[in-house]
Amino acid sequence: PSAADYIRSHIRTVPDWPHAGVQFRDITPLLSNPRVFRVLIDQFVHRYFDRKPDAIAGLDARGFIIGSVLAYELNIGFIPIRKKGKLPFTTVEERYELEYGSASVEIHTDAVRPGERIVLIDDLIATGGTMGAGARLLQRLGAEIVEGAAIVDLPELGGSQRLREAGLPLFTLLEFE
Ligand code: 5GP
Repeated sequence: PSAADYIRSHIRTVPDWPHAGVQFRDITPLLSNPRVFRVLIDQFVHRYFDRKPDAIAGLDARGFIIGSVLAYELNIGFIPIRKKGKLPFTTVEERYELEYGSASVEIHTDAVRPGERIVLIDDLIATGGTMGAGARLLQRLGAEIVEGAAIVDLPELGGSQRLREAGLPLFTLLEFE
């Protein structure tokens, strides 16, 4: 099978989690199987190996898992973008809308220097709110975002299309309808 199909076959769908009607795409089986984990990370390593960004920024929390391994393999730094209230130093904050209410993500103000080329990574794009807020944080610090990257896109929710229309290039390995 293709790498994408191999990876897809190890994503577990959990019905009605975290609430009724949601089909949660659980990536933990990708992490526990060392062969799949390596194939997964290598997809991103190969994409960036010959045009290395200055750093990988990862979104809390599953973006940390793949983003930190990717950064290590590329021999570049890793920048965490965290949910509000977790980072100890001076931060900037961006809010985004949820189904009910809103949430915020933060980044340290010294995490990137102006002009640095950054890849922003998470496990999955649903409404695109999280990835969009992370991209705005990086832009406020003057970063040049190479692209947003994720394992999974859920295109029916329209998030990836909205992000692209807003000018953020995106790379995803596979889609679920
Ligand atoms: P969005 O902000 O695009 O609506 O939601 C994406 C964020 O929520 C990501 O940080 C992702 O980790 C999490 N998320 C939402 N739905 C799922 C899902 O079905 N599976 C996984 N693994 N993460 C999800």
